[in-house]
Amino acid sequence: MGKVLFGPAGNSLSFYEEGLKSTLETPMWLKKQGKGLFEGGLDLFEYSFGQGFRMTSEKAKEIGDKFKEFGIEMSIHAPYFINFANPDPVMYEKSLGYIRTGIKFMNAFGAKRMVFHPGSCGKMERSEAVGLLRERFVEFMPEIEAELGAEMFICPETMGKSMQIGTFKEIIDLCTISDKLLPTFDFGHINALTQGSLKTPDDFQRIFDYSFEKLGEFRTKNAQVHFSKIEYGAKGEIRHLTFADTVYGPNFEHLCEVLVKNDMSCHIICESSETQAEDSVAMKQIYLQSLQK
Ligand SMILES: [Zn+2]
Repeated sequence: MGKVLFGPAGNSLSFYEEGLKSTLETPMWLKKQGKGLFEGGLDLFEYSFGQGFRMTSEKAKEIGDKFKEFGIEMSIHAPYFINFANPDPVMYEKSLGYIRTGIKFMNAFGAKRMVFHPGSCGKMERSEAVGLLRERFVEFMPEIEAELGAEMFICPETMGKSMQIGTFKEIIDLCTISDKLLPTFDFGHINALTQGSLKTPDDFQRIFDYSFEKLGEFRTKNAQVHFSKIEYGAKGEIRHLTFADTVYGPNFEHLCEVLVKNDMSCHIICESSETQAEDSVAMKQIYLQSLQK
């Protein structure tokens, strides 16, 4: 078996269509996916707190225990309201509060990784916004580092819209501030932001090479990855598609070649619209087959 792990962000439409309702039922369902194609089902699940932390910590513990029982690793997605480039000190404190609360939920779930959107430019010049964002990370990371247990990371994500901070270089440069920052490479976002620039395996290799150079081997090989096909326009991301898309890309086969060649151990979360578990199965199958070549 390979070292790259796969799983969905949230529950697929098919999960609900089979009559299931609760995330407590998700781990058993994930273990059954890919039957007839490979053993052991899917490996990962990302739980979204995008709209806020609407859960008790007791419930989170109960869900986390179920995932542990089935050997599926959880990650969480922090609220979308985080913006460390907002000059307002009250908003800065709120963003930091979301990270602190997120860590509590990571502990309750037993999750090791929290993905988050670092910030957006607002009315500032991009360079000014990125400068402010970096300053704040330098300021708060010592406290956050102390709260993160062994093998726990917070994972700023590459973003798909031009006003958001999060080109792959901005994210990798940000992660140089602390060893507890692990990059999230959302290749659908990167492709959308750059008008479809991910066309060959080399286009993926270039991104990992920059990360190898700046962050070293461990954090690059173990990076968090979001993968889905995303429709884009002049300002970047418009909406998430499924693997049925043949227009926008990117192609998983190209990323897969690079994962195998570099002996990567990335965690790949699929964010397809409604078919995220099915598309995770498709990716895992392609990956396992390419390991045998
Ligand atoms: Zn995200």
